[in-house]
Amino acid sequence: MSDVSDDPILVVGAGIGGLVTALSLHDAGHAVEIFESADEVRPLGVGINLLPHAVRELDALGLLDRLLPASVQPSTLAYFTKRGEPIWDEPRGLAAGYRWPQVSIHRGSLQQHLLQAVLERIGADHLHTGHHLVDLDSHDDHAMAHFASRRGGTVERSVRGSIVVAADGIHSAARAKRYPDEGMPRWNSALLWRGLATAPPVLDGRTMIWAGHPQQKFIGYPVADLPDGRQAFNFIAELRTDDTVLAEREDWNRPGVLEEFIGPFEGWRFDWLDVPALIRSASGTFRFPMVDRDPVERWSFGRTTLLGDSAHPMYPIGSNGASQAILDARVLTGCLRDIADPVAALERYDVERRPATGAIVLANRGLGPELPMSLVEQRAPDGFASIGDVISPEEILEVTEGYRRTAGFALAALSEGRSLADLSYA
Ligand SMILES: Cc1cc2nc3c(=O)[nH]c(=O)nc-3n(C[C@H](O)[C@H](O)[C@H](O)COP(=O)(O)OP(=O)(O)OC[C@H]3O[C@@H](n4cnc5c(N)ncnc54)[C@H](O)[C@@H]3O)c2cc1C
Repeated sequence: MSDVSDDPILVVGAGIGGLVTALSLHDAGHAVEIFESADEVRPLGVGINLLPHAVRELDALGLLDRLLPASVQPSTLAYFTKRGEPIWDEPRGLAAGYRWPQVSIHRGSLQQHLLQAVLERIGADHLHTGHHLVDLDSHDDHAMAHFASRRGGTVERSVRGSIVVAADGIHSAARAKRYPDEGMPRWNSALLWRGLATAPPVLDGRTMIWAGHPQQKFIGYPVADLPDGRQAFNFIAELRTDDTVLAEREDWNRPGVLEEFIGPFEGWRFDWLDVPALIRSASGTFRFPMVDRDPVERWSFGRTTLLGDSAHPMYPIGSNGASQAILDARVLTGCLRDIADPVAALERYDVERRPATGAIVLANRGLGPELPMSLVEQRAPDGFASIGDVISPEEILEVTEGYRRTAGFALAALSEGRSLADLSYA
């Protein structure tokens, strides 16, 4: 192991990225302390997806026994027009030949299962809630993290560690310290209303649905099978606005108002899904703007680095937000194992992960795997006799396969099956 000092590794943020980082580093033999701003880790959010390469890493960490029963593993991704006509479908996860499934799960459930594993394996004494990072610094032989007891507070506790891994999300204090002029996230004028309905299985109950085009889109997928045969069905209703300036700081927990967005979806009653009825059946929604940040030149500064959304916040399309945070955690673990000098190990992690994730941020700005839906709307806004007249399978495959390569989950790349933490970074 690289770090000869007795100082623990400090992981800031107990989101998906921070918890998996802590589990991965602990698994590799490091002492870890985790610091979370909230007073309690609560099961927040709605649906989230994990791609097969991230699931491979969770498997290597022995976490699938608890995660798979709490999730749905989709076997198909299907694109539809705004009228519900099929554009394209492709197999996903095991059905596509991967050794690991794609996993659709409630974010809160994922976080709670990871938290439970942290408590069992690392211990409650090493999870420090009510610790909001306000500053951090790097020294020759250690790093320091400075915490307030709440957001906006002043430093009340400083902790010494061998390194600091800041997984403190899109409003990362660690990133703001390195990039003080960055300001608010960038918004692309789209608003998302995310919700969870309880519904009978849609189609075969294992299909992710993407319908519409960049101006108006509906995404839906089940995240849990319920005992009564119904499913917890996650949906995202998305509308592009004419606004360019975000009136409010984005917040995953901001409640949505049905009247704000239901109007344009009233006509989306397909023979296989009544979209407005499904939306109305949810107890509520969360409103979230489509935001990201520009890729930066560096994540690692001395003995401190960024991970997950603090490092590469990206539009929540293409199922990459949590997946890439998990890959970060595993590469970081491998770098710290193979490179004795912690500063050099963090630099190696930076070089390994920053360009790869920066490419996904940019691909998502170009609509990522959703591009074919945009092309169909542009070419045939009033419908078509045959989808083959509008777009060819080859054109769609070029987009979807290209995105799989960018995001690192092309089938060939995973065929060897080795965990990223087991690769050599020397
Ligand atoms: C409340 C919430 C709900 C979400 N819901 C969804 C969803 O429904 N679907 C989806 O696809 N994605 C959702 N996301 C985003 C998704 O979790 C991330 O894109 C992805 O999992 C990467 O995770 P992360 O750990 O890097 O960041 P995050 O999941 O954002 O976790 C960051 C963690 O750091 C903590 N934190 C922030 N600032 C500080 C600080 N200064 N000091 C200490 N701790 C700090 C936060 O409280 C949080 O626990 C949500 C994120 C949050 C925070």
